[in-house]
Amino acid sequence: MHSDLRTKTIAVHAGTEPEPNTGAIMTPIFLTSTFVQEAPGVHKGYDYSRADNPTRQAHEKALAQIERGAKYALAYASGLAAEQAIIQLLNPGDRILVCDDVYGGTGRLFRRLFAKYNLDFQFIDMANMDEVKKAATANTKLIWVESPTNPTMKVIDIQAMSAVAKSVGAKLVVDNTFASPVFQSPLLMGADIVMHSSTKYIGGHSDMIGGALMMTDKALHEQLKFVQFAAGAVPSPFESFMFLRSIKTLAVRMEQHAKNAQAVAEFLEKHPKVKRVYFPGLKSHPQHELAKKQMSGFSGMVSFDMNGTYDDVVKFLKKLKVFCLAESLGGVESLVNHPEKMTHASVPEELRKKLGIGPTLLRLSVGIEDTADLIADLDQALS
Ligand SMILES: *Cc1c(COP(=O)(O)O)cnc(C)c1O
Repeated sequence: MHSDLRTKTIAVHAGTEPEPNTGAIMTPIFLTSTFVQEAPGVHKGYDYSRADNPTRQAHEKALAQIERGAKYALAYASGLAAEQAIIQLLNPGDRILVCDDVYGGTGRLFRRLFAKYNLDFQFIDMANMDEVKKAATANTKLIWVESPTNPTMKVIDIQAMSAVAKSVGAKLVVDNTFASPVFQSPLLMGADIVMHSSTKYIGGHSDMIGGALMMTDKALHEQLKFVQFAAGAVPSPFESFMFLRSIKTLAVRMEQHAKNAQAVAEFLEKHPKVKRVYFPGLKSHPQHELAKKQMSGFSGMVSFDMNGTYDDVVKFLKKLKVFCLAESLGGVESLVNHPEKMTHASVPEELRKKLGIGPTLLRLSVGIEDTADLIADLDQALS
């Protein structure tokens, strides 16, 4: 795949080539655990599906092609499995700087599972450069950024974080789930590893759990490939096939998500029952200029604070017809989530307060339905 092709073309063709035996245009689902060998160690490049499987290989090739700047990609059974693989590169005593409003499951993985291996996770406000520089000590091995963040859509300066990472010899990881590979290319801004929960936009149909890591550096790919093989958090060939299918429409889906989200955010911002809207594509977003610099589109996530009480919020949720109340995001259908009681219930209460996650905050995953229908639905439920 030529990297000078445009995103929609790359997405459609990524990873797939006609199957050599039959000419099948889609890569088949190779449901096999093992591969017959001609003589011990003599085979066609595959020996056991945890190590490599042709369908997963096509899936990984597609992932590498859609994330700009990537040369390699690895696929995982979930986003969190992909995150674990990165942490498994570290040693006891290593320090990891993490943005304080990181995805709730990422925080839980670090605080409740990996902290006991004497890994020093520091959760900090990455909009505050003084705080970042002070925390970036010589034993800092990883800087973990998510941008935009969830649910308040804070934008973190990826290039600035890359400079801090380089100054202490740490690697920069960017969780690119919210922007998708279509709208943000952290590897071109100095990130060492891009991570996605493929469950969200890459899968795009709310029917699979999966994760991905993309990178440019060969040695780093080899290290992570070894962890993938040795720890085994791989997706099945069936899921790999489904992700290959999803990636073909990623760019057209993202275009509609972004168009709808912009319209919804602008509608909500003008509505008297709405106190505040969080969306990087609004001029009123405190980091709109930074978002414009590092993103080519603002994706489909919009959060807002309603005027009134929690009971008013519940009434509003009951009246919605097109938006479904559910966790997760990035699917074709529009969803609404109550972060305090749902996705962010596991975040320590103090931190929730600091981040502005209260009883009247709602997060929308704006789908690809008709723009006017989405606005009409919000309008009737607010009135
Ligand atoms: C969902 C999500 C994850 C975790 O991915 P899973 O596929 O649920 O394991 C990590 N980061 C972000 C930003 C997410 O939205």
